[in-house]
Amino acid sequence: MRDIAVVGGGPAGAMCGERLARSGYSVTIYDEHLAWEKPCGGGLTHKAIKAYPFLLDGPYPKKLIRTVELISSKGHRAQLTLDHPIVIYSRTVLNGLLLERAEAAGCRVVRSRVNHIDAEGERAKLTIGENRVEADFVVIAAGARNSLLPDTSRLMRSDLEMTLGYFVPAQAEGISVKFLRGFEGYLWSFPRCDHLSVGICGSMARHTSQELRRHLHAFMAEERISRDGAQFYSHVLPSPQQQTLSARRVVGRNWALVGDAAAWVDPITGEGLYYALRSGDLLAQAVIAGKPREYPARVRKAFSADLEFATRIARRFYRGRFLGGAVATRMIQFIERSPTFRALMADVFGGAQDYCSLKRRLWAQCGTTLAEVVGSLTKRQAALAKSAPATSTENLQ
Ligand SMILES: Cc1cc2nc3c(=O)[nH]c(=O)nc-3n(C[C@H](O)[C@H](O)[C@H](O)COP(=O)(O)OP(=O)(O)OC[C@H]3O[C@@H](n4cnc5c(N)ncnc54)[C@H](O)[C@@H]3O)c2cc1C
Repeated sequence: MRDIAVVGGGPAGAMCGERLARSGYSVTIYDEHLAWEKPCGGGLTHKAIKAYPFLLDGPYPKKLIRTVELISSKGHRAQLTLDHPIVIYSRTVLNGLLLERAEAAGCRVVRSRVNHIDAEGERAKLTIGENRVEADFVVIAAGARNSLLPDTSRLMRSDLEMTLGYFVPAQAEGISVKFLRGFEGYLWSFPRCDHLSVGICGSMARHTSQELRRHLHAFMAEERISRDGAQFYSHVLPSPQQQTLSARRVVGRNWALVGDAAAWVDPITGEGLYYALRSGDLLAQAVIAGKPREYPARVRKAFSADLEFATRIARRFYRGRFLGGAVATRMIQFIERSPTFRALMADVFGGAQDYCSLKRRLWAQCGTTLAEVVGSLTKRQAALAKSAPATSTENLQ
């Protein structure tokens, strides 16, 4: 296996191509846009930076964010301070730098749309306009809106989220995230170097685009984010079911899916950039080892078991109730009142805490968290009780 075709030059395809070319493979990356402003928040968490430090160290323009404000459906607000910054790129810059690295490693980068892949024969055949090209192996990195699936199932509506948003010509220093009542998804504002990416994501099976647009406009009005001069975007985002992660075929004899095409996205946060980079990297390692069939097992060990665990708590997180209130609202109230819980959630949002060990950490800290919450509430009651007579004295005066 020497000639590799990569369809899609986003993070997954560019990373896979770079790794293979560095090991001496002859790699051609086809992308219909090359570096473009793909609808995205552009946020890279700590686990992405730890695995790929050049994303922090390189000279490319990016914004480092250390505060995240969480807003409940009832308007409670809590702020997280991150030990490790979230690094936010414009996607034109991020895709551009990854493609540059791939090219420097020896990849041929071609601006073309691939219309069809035939993986029936010994070699894969790609149709590109009027032309046909062949490759020993084809990496399908064409994102979530992808119909180039040789021998596997399509993603269902229940595996997808709809996203709508605006690139807004404004500046901010922190990320804002708002949850809505009975809504599987959230609203966000992500500051980039010279604009904001503001948007909403919601389950495609449960919510309509009109509903999303109404919530988005209400959020922007509440947060005083003007739509003047803003550029609208919409896209789909995988939000895989457990069955999709565990059973969908992602590799065949001469093809494999990576990134969004394989639905490797966190079903709670919508984080996909890390999984796109990592899956591209892991597929390249399996091919270089001469064992492409081992790719799913490598992914499972690296992150898909964690994503499967996340699918089991995603619905409970967005729709469940805890102590008589919505889970997200209680989470925000606990963050406000408990420094221990606040530190834990900062690690979750910053990408330093995985889901599999989250439950253990929650239980281990449960006593301290509850003591801090009760202590904070008692202090508040005492302060209120103290201020009440003062107010009544003032009133009497
Ligand atoms: C609104 C929104 C906000 C998001 N915010 C974040 C975030 O803040 N942080 C995060 O980690 N993740 C975020 N994500 C997820 C993230 O954008 C994706 O997980 C990531 O882009 C996946 O990378 P990829 O390389 O698999 O696919 P893509 O980035 O989608 O790249 C696919 C590439 O394939 C090309 N292509 C498609 N079809 C063809 C074809 N037929 N022929 C040739 N080329 C083709 C496209 O031009 C594209 O460049 C967000 C997603 C959305 C929709």
